[in-house]
Amino acid sequence: MLASCVSWLLTAFVVTTATIPIVAQSFSSEGFSVSYLDRSVDACTDFYQFACGKWLIANPVPADRARYSRLNELADRNARIVRDILENAAFTASSRTPDEEKIGDAYAACMDQKTIEARRAGPLEPLLREIDAVSNREQLIRLAARFSHDGFPSFLTLGAAPDAQDSSVFTAVLGQGAMGLPDRELYLKDDERSTMLRREYEAHVQRMFEILGGGRVLSGPPDRVARAVMDVETAIARGTMDRVEFRDPRRRNNPTTVAQLAELAPNIDFALYFRGTGAPSFSRLNLLNPQYVRDISAALATVPLASWKAYMKWRALDEMASLLTGRFELEQFRFNGEILSGQKEMRPRWMRCSDAVAGQPGADALGELVGKIFIQRQFGPDAKARMDQLITALQQSLRQRLTEVDWMSAETRERALAKLEAMRRKIGGPDTWRDFSAVMIRRDDYAGNSIRIAANDRQRQFQWIGQRVDRSIWLMTPQTVNAYYAPSLNEVTFPAGILQPPVFDSTLDDAVNFGAVGAMIGHEITHGFDDSGRRFDATGNLMNWWMPRDEDAFRERVACVASQYGAYSSLPGVKLNGDLTLGENVADNGGVRIAYYALMELLARKGPPASIDGFTPEQRFFISYAQVWCENASDQDFRRRAQEDVHSPGRWRANGVLQNMPEFRKAFGCKEGVPMAPATACRVW
Ligand SMILES: [Zn+2]
Repeated sequence: MLASCVSWLLTAFVVTTATIPIVAQSFSSEGFSVSYLDRSVDACTDFYQFACGKWLIANPVPADRARYSRLNELADRNARIVRDILENAAFTASSRTPDEEKIGDAYAACMDQKTIEARRAGPLEPLLREIDAVSNREQLIRLAARFSHDGFPSFLTLGAAPDAQDSSVFTAVLGQGAMGLPDRELYLKDDERSTMLRREYEAHVQRMFEILGGGRVLSGPPDRVARAVMDVETAIARGTMDRVEFRDPRRRNNPTTVAQLAELAPNIDFALYFRGTGAPSFSRLNLLNPQYVRDISAALATVPLASWKAYMKWRALDEMASLLTGRFELEQFRFNGEILSGQKEMRPRWMRCSDAVAGQPGADALGELVGKIFIQRQFGPDAKARMDQLITALQQSLRQRLTEVDWMSAETRERALAKLEAMRRKIGGPDTWRDFSAVMIRRDDYAGNSIRIAANDRQRQFQWIGQRVDRSIWLMTPQTVNAYYAPSLNEVTFPAGILQPPVFDSTLDDAVNFGAVGAMIGHEITHGFDDSGRRFDATGNLMNWWMPRDEDAFRERVACVASQYGAYSSLPGVKLNGDLTLGENVADNGGVRIAYYALMELLARKGPPASIDGFTPEQRFFISYAQVWCENASDQDFRRRAQEDVHSPGRWRANGVLQNMPEFRKAFGCKEGVPMAPATACRVW
């Protein structure tokens, strides 16, 4: 189950909404390689195709994936290590540490399909009975509180995050409601895809209820109940903020008091709700979206109680489907995997169990317990020291850019430099590990384990409310193939999981490493100065430190990037959203530029190396950068990401950046006017 952590807004390196892609087959996973080049393609016409061409042919999307990229290759290697850790702890170790007992028993419980099948929908039934017993609005609010207490999604979501006005202290955050379709627009628009997905989704909800036993647990026929679920989710979608608006941290910052909430949402007894969640008492909180709270309060008066109960049953069922019998899992896959993402087959059991124990985006599960062992095996002090040096080199390079940009006044420049100085870093994994001793894990209770883990996770978050921010907390597990910048902490984090080929390869030359890991570090650091990150100051407070004319100059520069990427397509007729992907594109552009200059600075000190494989260091840098982004994907996946993902697809993460760089043109001798050297180039940093 996915206990979504709504309150921390991170800017990650790659999309985190999908499941961790892992695969059973043993692929040979090299890092950088000139054997992937398609030399029949002109580097100045389509550099992505030139850098990735042969890799793309050799790596079609496996049947159990929606897409396959070079970072998936890396994740596959990690998955095999994690599997080894889990199987050893579950089945083969002759003596086990307490940590190994927990992760081993959790994994064994998930792999024990016989016991899971025998229990049928049993683990869900107590919750269904509670929902049945609800007979008025007050009881519905109590039920929503109970859902929040246990980390189940519903129409009310509570979390904790650093206070935007004082980021050293955690505040309570009231979020938006949960929906089954991945974007609000899909409920509201009448284009062909939205209409098709709504129809398929409603049929899916109905089938899930039929598997559950139709009339036995429902107040009406499954098709009517599915219709009621759609009514509630459509009301939630209406109140939900648009993805582009949501990127603006000022829109998400709406401090209020519990007392004021009564005026905003007269139909919701928030004092009752907050008490029921198990959160400590508080009087002030932040609303991610006041309009949502207002709308959902109004909907409580107009949408019948029976519909809300149907919605709560559906949320519980959808959340727990993967913990119940194979029939539920298969039907859930048919919609979430096949229809939404174009995935043809379900991933094997061990992978799903590995995700369930070691964590996946949005749900870390027992991931830190696995990560502790992962780090011991995979990440030595040498690697950490080398990363530390690289981050320092990239920070120095951005310092140089900030000093040189000609459009910034001295006042803004000084504050930008101070923010960069104050930026903190985390490498590999946590210094202090999360304590799971309170979570009971049983070898014969897969559903119960998952519920206890999710509840523990939510209660841990609630206990932060009103406390000082503990800066030792990690928001990704060590084995994760990703990285993040947390604007409210002004901090970059690089888990051990991503610090491997093709991102980081200590056996290869500096040019290759600066093109990959260097550009990734540069990307995360630049997030502190993208269109969203720039709104936070050196301490992580949401505070405007820009002089008005510098803001104007900045806006002009990012507008160029927004229209550049808005003109790209991921499939014929499927345009990217230049505003949705703006922050990531600014980070990619800045990241590659500062990595390039960090490399030049290093080579100037060391003396220029000879060409390798017939390519100069500059050329190897750009090939290495582009090769990180080689990817194949289903059409459904490309369409989905064009609507949902704040990152551009791999082709444009590569070509979009390089089209803006005179340094690239020079390295490959591209003449102005060819596709990789357009007449207008955008530049922010
Ligand atoms: Zn990013």
